[in-house]
Amino acid sequence: MDGETRPRRTKILYVEDDPSSVVLVRRVLESEGYQVIAAEDGLSAIEIAKREKPDLILMDINISGLDGYEVTTKIRNIPELSSIPIVAVTAATLKGDRERALIAGCDGYIPKPIDVDRFPYQVQAFLLGMKEEVESVEEKIEYLAEYSRKLVDRLEEKIRELEAAHAELQRIDKMKTDFVILASHELRTPLTAIYGYAQILLSNSDIPGSADEVGSPRFIIDKMAEATRRLGQVVGDIINVSLIDADKLDLATEPIFLDPLVRNVLRNITGMGPERKLTFEVEGLENLPVVMGDSQRLYQALWNVISNSIKYTPDGGRIRITGRQIEDTVHIAIQDTGVGIPPEERERIFDRFYVLEDTALHRSSKTAFKGGGLGLGLTVARGIIEAHGGKIWVESEGYDEERLPGSTFHVLLPLAEQ
Ligand code: ADP
Repeated sequence: MDGETRPRRTKILYVEDDPSSVVLVRRVLESEGYQVIAAEDGLSAIEIAKREKPDLILMDINISGLDGYEVTTKIRNIPELSSIPIVAVTAATLKGDRERALIAGCDGYIPKPIDVDRFPYQVQAFLLGMKEEVESVEEKIEYLAEYSRKLVDRLEEKIRELEAAHAELQRIDKMKTDFVILASHELRTPLTAIYGYAQILLSNSDIPGSADEVGSPRFIIDKMAEATRRLGQVVGDIINVSLIDADKLDLATEPIFLDPLVRNVLRNITGMGPERKLTFEVEGLENLPVVMGDSQRLYQALWNVISNSIKYTPDGGRIRITGRQIEDTVHIAIQDTGVGIPPEERERIFDRFYVLEDTALHRSSKTAFKGGGLGLGLTVARGIIEAHGGKIWVESEGYDEERLPGSTFHVLLPLAEQ
């Protein structure tokens, strides 16, 4: 058939979940030159019909999920499929099956088991436009009423199933959250003890060496204390995210001056980790009005955002924190001259466990350039800010390690009511 286009074979979609029926119908129809596509349940039948645009659909009624009546009604209501002839092929069990099929939108009815000799002629007749009708108007009304009652019953049953599944999911989710909170608290207690004892040891002048003398007892205890503190922070982040998820983040609200809070964060961050050559600018915070909030939690939120701006800005860069009042809110902007964030990631970075860079390059430092974390920092920050009735979002021209477009995180907090 070089160069010639073969005429398109007539395409028949057979919706049937019994493989042996599919084999039989396929054999009979393919030997007549038809192309047969099979679908084994209602939802995939609708998808395949949309994709393949068959010339005729043979519909078994007793299929799983949506049944054949419902699939027919659905297909009749899809404009590009509505004129495809649909023929019910099903074991005649109850009186009125034919009428039910016609009411649902079928053009005809072929009882199973099929008569192999007659079947191709029956199919051809429907392909040529044959349509069966319910004889009397009274019957039609009666079957229509029965069909709509059945649909409502099925809808009710499905809603009940969905509600039960939803309740079960919520129960499992709560179990998970409770477990995470409990396990994290259990971890935190011994961690606090280890950290406390390490501090006691460090305050003892008999411990030889210094924190800078690699390998000396004092150096080792200092490193242990630092590692324990970091571990405590990770556990704290996990607890916070679980509390935010479970809507259980309680705020100990009090009036807060943001200027000392931000300066405190900066002092504590820059005092940790490797020495970085960064310039810090703070402007406009000292004149800000008081906000009502939980100072420990707001400290944590700002800590997470500011430590990120340090982590993602190479040496020589600048971090600028500005504050101003906009109507009844306080706006704090944390602007860096770092690597920036690609547009498609600007919302996702606030998702749980979201880290942008390759986890193989992960370095667990809070201040080293691109030192990674668990991907919880911004989730916690957003959870805390939103629990205060505020908002947090980011602006950035994009990600570029050469050009360094930078990022600006915006935080809005409502003012204390007068
Ligand atoms: P992590 O604890 O891993 O730092 P975060 O939730 O704090 O997680 O941040 C998520 C991701 O957002 C980071 O892995 C990083 O890719 C990106 N990101 C956050 N802040 C900045 C920033 N100031 N500049 C560039 N990328 C940032």
